[in-house]
Amino acid sequence: MDKGKIIVISAPSGCGKSTIINALMQRGNVDLHFSVSATNRPPREGETDGVSYHFLSDEEFRRAISEDAFVEFEEVYPGRFYGTLKSELEHRCAQGQNVLLDIDVKGGVRVKEMYGDRARSIFIKPPSVDELRRRLESRGTDDSDAIAQRVGKAEFELSFEPRYDTSVTNDNLNEAVDHTERIILDFTRK
Ligand code: 5GP
Repeated sequence: MDKGKIIVISAPSGCGKSTIINALMQRGNVDLHFSVSATNRPPREGETDGVSYHFLSDEEFRRAISEDAFVEFEEVYPGRFYGTLKSELEHRCAQGQNVLLDIDVKGGVRVKEMYGDRARSIFIKPPSVDELRRRLESRGTDDSDAIAQRVGKAEFELSFEPRYDTSVTNDNLNEAVDHTERIILDFTRK
């Protein structure tokens, strides 16, 4: 049976990663299946269990760790854990499906190290840190302290870029989607 390939996409927050992934999936040119992660954070409005995430209690998440259910997991925010489930990734790959992982920078680097040539890791980045700050300000959802914190975290996350196979700058959304699509098609058609 053919083995599926793994696409990892990571980005500092505010770089438009979710918008790019949604546009990519909507275009339907790439043959990808989304790996639904597990998290112990509560669902946000509009999120569905089993679709957006597998929403677990703290105890369920701990149990999943002890049962070795994760390929990788990270504490992405204090007390908030996110993990790639073996049942999502490895079973899909074994069925020959190409799997998309939308995970944080540490998890992304870990998955690339684990799967080598079977994985292609893509880093989405803003044109500059100043531009990211402007975008967060114009979104109007965070106060200035929260923006400073996000920008600080983004600077740390940007330091992971060299450990990714390839980067996409999200300056113009359509071009960023085109670029990401090309990278994925090149890799999955090989
Ligand atoms: P949010 O809470 O906004 O949905 O996601 C927060 C962050 O967690 C995002 O950067 C997302 O990429 C990351 N994330 C989601 N699932 C996983 C996962 O399974 N593993 C890791 N390491 N990070 C994840």
